[in-house]
Amino acid sequence: MANQEKKIKVCVIGAGAAGLCAIRHLAANVKFETTVYEQTNEIGGTWVYKEQIGLDANGLPIHSSMYQNLRTNLPAKIMNFPDYITMEAREPSCVSHQEILNYLRDYAQHFDISRHIHFNTRVEHVRLELSEYYNKEKWSVQVKKLNTNETELRYFDAIMVCNGHYFDPYIPIIPGIDNFPGLILHSHAYRKPDEFFGKKVLVLGAASSGIDIGIDLSKYAACVYLSHNHDRLTSPLPSNMIQVAGIESIDKTTFRLRDGTTVDDINVLIFCTGYKYSFPFLNENCGIRIDNNYVTPLYKHLINIEHPSMCIVGIPTVVVPFPMFHMQVQYFLALLEGRVTLPTKSVMLEDSILKTPEKKHAHKLMDRQWDYNDSLAIVGGFDRLPLFYKLGFKVWSVQRSANLLRYKDSKFVFSEDGQSVELIIPE
Ligand SMILES: Cc1cc2nc3c(=O)[nH]c(=O)nc-3n(C[C@H](O)[C@H](O)[C@H](O)COP(=O)(O)OP(=O)(O)OC[C@H]3O[C@@H](n4cnc5c(N)ncnc54)[C@H](O)[C@@H]3O)c2cc1C
Repeated sequence: MANQEKKIKVCVIGAGAAGLCAIRHLAANVKFETTVYEQTNEIGGTWVYKEQIGLDANGLPIHSSMYQNLRTNLPAKIMNFPDYITMEAREPSCVSHQEILNYLRDYAQHFDISRHIHFNTRVEHVRLELSEYYNKEKWSVQVKKLNTNETELRYFDAIMVCNGHYFDPYIPIIPGIDNFPGLILHSHAYRKPDEFFGKKVLVLGAASSGIDIGIDLSKYAACVYLSHNHDRLTSPLPSNMIQVAGIESIDKTTFRLRDGTTVDDINVLIFCTGYKYSFPFLNENCGIRIDNNYVTPLYKHLINIEHPSMCIVGIPTVVVPFPMFHMQVQYFLALLEGRVTLPTKSVMLEDSILKTPEKKHAHKLMDRQWDYNDSLAIVGGFDRLPLFYKLGFKVWSVQRSANLLRYKDSKFVFSEDGQSVELIIPE
């Protein structure tokens, strides 16, 4: 009983890839007592493809942003968690969403994860409490059991927020949009290309989703305009996919673009404009603020500086997420166990200061992700990621921008010493 009382009670919010990774490491350590809440009836988060849009069976908005033909935009080999490498290098290197869901299910089974999860249970409110008895911070978590509508209040020593970052669409304001008579949707609600047969579609945004959905649509649509404000993509694109500038305003079916040109007779506008970080259950007293997708105050894009017994997993963008979750989770658990000491608050606040010209890019790591992952491992005292993640990502990034139409069909070939990797695109 005495031992039981000493356990650190940790609440994990969400059982997508990040939450599963958290449970895997928590459950392997007797010092932790793990409780996980998942609002849907299954694991996998955004990898659970739902054909319907709008509301889910649990009455909540559909969480997943998957579409029917989605194949990963990273080679499966580098999506493996480092302690469960079952997706080997193969051809094609990028796989379907179903294969990733199967992988996550296998991972959960392998580490006996699901028994810790309360399904159909939504976290509604997380609040900081000061326990006089323990003279330390505690967290109260109010959950709603969606099958019965009962609510329950539980107390925890630590919180791991793993609720995902691709479910709350960002939609920019565009003058004249109210007069557009066509169909408007966000990529969150995009499912199948055949619904757009013969249409003139304008896709706004040329990050991963915009490019991928544009190419998917081009097989059915009459014409796809890929509208964006970045440098023009240099890769070949489908013949009916045309890059144009970003939207300035809309006048019925005519779109005026930022370079002064127009495109006419548009039937469908698809926003591929990304998502907002959203933690609707966090009470203000948790201390987390979001300003234009800049989440503060976080140390290492992870630890709540005001209350370090809370972390938010998966904030960095343009990264390889699964192995990064593996590093972030282990670092946080080392902190809870007292194996990591945080620097002073002022040093941590300095770390969380905005270092990019635009707030919306505050958490973009790209090539810095490898130093970031290493820094967590060094301080946390656990293994760094094997080199193939970095090598694979680098080769893949070059190939992707050169050949958006074919890069997913490539094959990874690693050298025998593991020090180099080549991507071979089939004829
Ligand atoms: C269209 C698309 C394509 C992508 N392609 C790739 C790719 O090719 N490769 C790659 O590595 N990554 C890709 N990603 C990124 C992907 O988001 C990450 O790989 C990863 O799956 C994120 O896991 P997560 O656990 O953080 O979030 P999620 O998978 O979103 O899981 C969050 C979970 O939390 C639950 N939840 C949320 N709120 C609550 C609450 N209040 N109470 C209880 N439960 C809650 C949700 O139901 C969900 O199960 C893609 C993302 C999208 C949207």
